[in-house]
Amino acid sequence: MRLRTFESFWLIKNGLLYSYPSLQQNLDSEIIVIGGGITGALISHALLDAGYEVTLLDKRDIGQGSTAATTSVLQYEIDVPLYKLAEQIGAPEAALCYTAGIKAIDRLGELVNQEAIECGFEPKQSLYFAHNSKAARWLKEEYEVRSRYQLGVEWLSAGAIDRRYGMSTHGGIRSAKAASMDAYQFTHELIQKNIARGLKVFDQTAIKKISYAPAGVSLQLEGDVMASCRRIVFCSGFETVSMFPEKTANLFSTFACVSETNTPMPEALRELVAWNTEAPYLYLRSTDDGRLLVGGADSPFNSGTFRQRVKEKKTTQLIKKLNRTIPGVQFIDDFSWAGCFGATRDGLPYIGRHEKYPGAFFVLGFGGNGITFSVQGMELILKLLRNEPDPLLELYRFGR
Ligand SMILES: Cc1cc2nc3c(=O)[nH]c(=O)nc-3n(C[C@H](O)[C@H](O)[C@H](O)COP(=O)(O)OP(=O)(O)OC[C@H]3O[C@@H](n4cnc5c(N)ncnc54)[C@H](O)[C@@H]3O)c2cc1C
Repeated sequence: MRLRTFESFWLIKNGLLYSYPSLQQNLDSEIIVIGGGITGALISHALLDAGYEVTLLDKRDIGQGSTAATTSVLQYEIDVPLYKLAEQIGAPEAALCYTAGIKAIDRLGELVNQEAIECGFEPKQSLYFAHNSKAARWLKEEYEVRSRYQLGVEWLSAGAIDRRYGMSTHGGIRSAKAASMDAYQFTHELIQKNIARGLKVFDQTAIKKISYAPAGVSLQLEGDVMASCRRIVFCSGFETVSMFPEKTANLFSTFACVSETNTPMPEALRELVAWNTEAPYLYLRSTDDGRLLVGGADSPFNSGTFRQRVKEKKTTQLIKKLNRTIPGVQFIDDFSWAGCFGATRDGLPYIGRHEKYPGAFFVLGFGGNGITFSVQGMELILKLLRNEPDPLLELYRFGR
């Protein structure tokens, strides 16, 4: 009998990396960042680096939101294909969003190196493969559009994919730029580096009320502690959607599982993150300790009890699909988990101001490349604070 867990693999693998105090005294800070996930860690880093005085607050433990659950496939590719996004927002604009994703992966790699952060970061290629011949037709069209914008892509036939990766597909787009990492470990390690540079971090600190004004923001915290700041930046993840009167994103459930270490796999598969054209899509990657990680099987119901109830069934589904994709793979399930996932209509994040909240900024990544959007937020938050324009801010704004 195998004793199973609902906790994500990363929490079990890393354990409690660091502990942080809760806020027990009144505080004033130039900027308060809400949310100690990977977005809050990246944004605090960028702000601190630019010379701001920054305090990071989280109502849970640091890194225990979606960041603990993410499979950390780092893609420039957006859930909405480029040719479809071009129809929605215009071709040059769509290409700009895709190119920004490529730069974000490079930026993240540089940050990991500069700061010498241990997080299993591995540059990879990505394979977006067709699950049937009908999908192969539009995927080929997608390839043509991506080639036109020089996104570092090549078309691989089904035979070429089979020979190199042992995968059964209907052809696919291989992109030169992708990566994978352990986002939970990265988040803690980056926060630790920044605490040494003056970042203040408090977790288990719940906010009762926030008063917003263009001149400054004040927060009433549990235990009658007050905090004030000139600007507040929400990096508070998927649950932030409840703050807005308008619909920003759909929230649903997604599932993932990881095999035991030393899973036999074609060597070339280790260089790859891969996803397919099914809806919902199946995706896979290897880990730096020789596991295969597979995810998908999304369901429109966003409830923790639902996820708990169907997790085993969804794991079986994922493994079955993986077996179809990599015939003969010996995937011995070690950990499986699930989480809430948010997606916007155009696959783009929300980064900017919201008219309802003067003095506040939001950095909210959505979709399968949420983390690369968070990286883009590092540069964009500085522009927002300095009132500098950027074409991406137009594309990622509220009310678009
Ligand atoms: C199973 C799964 C697989 C995924 N795979 C990928 C992937 O392969 N690639 C990818 O890019 N993305 C993936 N994602 C999405 C990815 O997890 C998110 O984009 C990313 O973790 C978001 O980070 P975050 O810091 O914005 O949010 P979170 O990690 O959720 O952090 C937000 C923090 O804000 C805190 N908070 C919220 N509200 C408040 C409040 N009012 N007061 C104080 N604190 C508050 C929360 O406690 C939380 O710690 C996946 C998600 C899931 C669930």
